[in-house]
Amino acid sequence: MTAQRVYLSTTIPYVNSRAHVGFALELVQADVLARHHRRIGDEVRLQSGTDDNSLKNVLAAEAAGITTRELVNRNASEFAGLREHLSLSFDDFIRTSSDPRHRPGVERLWRACAERGDLYRKTYEGLYCVGCEQFYTEAELDDGNCPDHGTPPQLVAEENWFFRLSKYADQLRAEISSGRLRIEPASRRNEVLGFIAGGLEDFSASRSVARARGWGIEVPDDPSQVIYVWWDALGNYITSLNYGAPDPATGDERGSDYQRWWVGADRRTHLVGKGVLRFHAVYWPAILLSAGEPLPTEIFVHDYLTVGGRKISKSAARLTDGGQADANDPVALARAYGVDALRWWLIRDVPRIGDTDFTIDKLIARTNEDLANGVGNLVNRVVSVVHSYRNGVVRPCALPPGTSRWLAAATSADRSDASDWPADAAAVRATLAATPEAVRAALASFDLRTAAAAVFAIVEHANRYIEAAAPWHLAKAERANDEAASARLDQVLGALVVTCQVLASELWPFLPDLAARVAAACDDLGGKLPKPQPVFPRIEVAEPSAGRRRRQYAAVATNDGPAADQSTVSEVA
Ligand SMILES: [Zn+2]
Repeated sequence: MTAQRVYLSTTIPYVNSRAHVGFALELVQADVLARHHRRIGDEVRLQSGTDDNSLKNVLAAEAAGITTRELVNRNASEFAGLREHLSLSFDDFIRTSSDPRHRPGVERLWRACAERGDLYRKTYEGLYCVGCEQFYTEAELDDGNCPDHGTPPQLVAEENWFFRLSKYADQLRAEISSGRLRIEPASRRNEVLGFIAGGLEDFSASRSVARARGWGIEVPDDPSQVIYVWWDALGNYITSLNYGAPDPATGDERGSDYQRWWVGADRRTHLVGKGVLRFHAVYWPAILLSAGEPLPTEIFVHDYLTVGGRKISKSAARLTDGGQADANDPVALARAYGVDALRWWLIRDVPRIGDTDFTIDKLIARTNEDLANGVGNLVNRVVSVVHSYRNGVVRPCALPPGTSRWLAAATSADRSDASDWPADAAAVRATLAATPEAVRAALASFDLRTAAAAVFAIVEHANRYIEAAAPWHLAKAERANDEAASARLDQVLGALVVTCQVLASELWPFLPDLAARVAAACDDLGGKLPKPQPVFPRIEVAEPSAGRRRRQYAAVATNDGPAADQSTVSEVA
């Protein structure tokens, strides 16, 4: 398959409060896709950022008694900091209030639509929810309240600029029905087509400066109006590519990044939450059609997390009194339980369709089962037996077809002397060979959970194999001068080590930190594995102390390493 150029984006959250675990889901999903494409040789640009220009930010700053600039600076830097806390690999992070690329791009997009005749002034009266930054019709309200926020919308009457969305209904339907603009899952595509079929109305694309409290981007040539924050925010997907800046090298009115990553990309993929689907699948493509620019090729829509059965609270405290991480707060969770644990839960336990409830108990259970007892135990046993019986020296079996040791420094090692696979390891070898295609197929349909399960199948097969092959029995026979057992032990160890090396490579898009530790633990470059080091500790759960209602947790590395298998250890000894 030839390499593709892939432009991936997350939505840009407004920064009226801190990041919550629901947004971490989207960031991690986007990061997995970006890493996957990089690993298979595609050219990738992953972009994230913050929407600073929302009226909500102004109101939050007023409530906090600080300037809007102070509030957005503080919160936006926390969002940018998620890159490190969640081991994300975004290539670019745009802030809509301060990035010099943004305003000229938004203005250019506006002017392009205005030149097409798609922006006009109209006096308008409507019900506006500031929380959603959108107008609602009476029919869309729940007992007169916003269906999302449960609060009454404001009655707003003013003269605004309107965008001729209605003009683009047929084109949008054609783009989406044909799959040129692919919306996944299919239920979301049908939802969008239903919305279009219900009739598209022109939308208000500006606010009075007074109602926007002077915050935002002025409408070109109309200082009385500020561009609607959704127009402004959606533009980030191309303003970050210098859509608004001429390219000095070529003289083109749009920057070279725009040519390369938007016009020239094979895939332009947006990841969005279900609550903002309409903006991304209807408003944004219509604006691009008006401006004469290419549309995104794919929109992947994820559902929501609840936390402990409740809708996510953005105002929750960061740490509870007992020192337990706030389950809403991805940074606190990553600090308390490790970034691998948080990423793995978000990938492995969240299905492609449907809301999912997050709890710390679920995070701990999944982590201990898969990462400590699964990956950690496997790697620890493999490296330990190689050291016990071969002083760390091993000749790994040949790579199964289609697999790679993409991560390890061992990629550069000479493999011409690779040993043959033992016949009884056929299932492990077949699993390794099937994994790359299984992962590719699952991620092509944005099914991260299925992709992660395909990788974890390596761990399950390998842990079964080490039990069945019982290298400790072979070592015992070897000590009794059984030469066949000795040769077989070499093969078994070679199969196990190459299995862990491929596992590291396959884990990398999902858990880059753990993958790097596995790769380092099983790196036979120089002909010898490093001394066994635990790659993943169990999360120990302390019983509740007297007087405390909540259980407390701590991530504790045990001295013996992760979940060392006692039977193996005693056999080894
Ligand atoms: Zn609302």
